[in-house]
Amino acid sequence: MSFPIHRSRRLRRHPGIRRLVAETRLHPADLIQPLFVCPGTKVQHDIAAMPSVAQMSVDLLVEEAKRLGDLGISAVLLFGTPQKKDDTGSEAWSDSGAVQHALRALKKECPSLYLITDVCLCAYTNCGHCGLPSDHGTVLNDTSIELLGQIAASHAKHGADMVAPSDMMDGRVAAIRRALDNAKFQYTPIMSYAAKYASAFYGPFREAQDSTPQFGDRKTYQMDPANRREAVREVLQDIDEGADMVMVKPAMPYLDVLSDIRAAVDVPVAAYQVSGEYAMIKAAAQNGWLDERAAAFESLLSIKRAGADNIITYFAKDIAAQL
Ligand SMILES: [Zn+2]
Repeated sequence: MSFPIHRSRRLRRHPGIRRLVAETRLHPADLIQPLFVCPGTKVQHDIAAMPSVAQMSVDLLVEEAKRLGDLGISAVLLFGTPQKKDDTGSEAWSDSGAVQHALRALKKECPSLYLITDVCLCAYTNCGHCGLPSDHGTVLNDTSIELLGQIAASHAKHGADMVAPSDMMDGRVAAIRRALDNAKFQYTPIMSYAAKYASAFYGPFREAQDSTPQFGDRKTYQMDPANRREAVREVLQDIDEGADMVMVKPAMPYLDVLSDIRAAVDVPVAAYQVSGEYAMIKAAAQNGWLDERAAAFESLLSIKRAGADNIITYFAKDIAAQL
């Protein structure tokens, strides 16, 4: 590869040739917009640490979903908040829950949008953990996964096209598959948050979901940020239990993990660009320290280049509008 015969700059001299030789492209269809639904009507709670992101009641959520569909976004990931938390998180599988209500409305008003639901207990329980608490200050596994199955089946019943368990309990994918099949939803796929790390980058999200644990932390079930090989093991186990798609979360601090998983499996791999990743770019842009659009675009491109087939991101709407 000797100079001057070879000059890399030849293929960079014009936007047309740069587009022709681009190895990675973003498309609106790659992007999944997370949406937060809350009880009530005409309710919008802006989330301070996540500019342009809000909790919305179903009526406003439907309008937002229509706008997303018009931009070419194919899927949304729904998170709910309850009217009232309790010890078991029972509103998570209630027919009158906010997510269930949103699913019915979105199915009717936005039939072309693909509806994915987050399946977890943390926003619904008093303790704020992703599983039920034991009497000894730990988080129960085997009891929790039965409830997660019940939540998934309830979501499917009300119109979820896909369920996405984010709890990181062991055996939850198998339990959810069983619950879905028993309820005759054998065609409802599961996207598991398979390699989900105990990350500081979730900070702003907890305000959106009001889901801060009331004791301890999530390190007994979410992965240790120090571990890379373990992520592949988690992913293979979830696929073995019936996961149709797997996810890496967060995205940018874990591009090595994403790349490993892409190479190790042949199911679709999603990445979640989490609230803290979003907030960092937004805050820097608000200070005039970064070009928001360029930084957001580059961050998403890096996630796709590392191996993500699709990306869950709070930038979905803005970026799709520019593509
Ligand atoms: Zn959770």
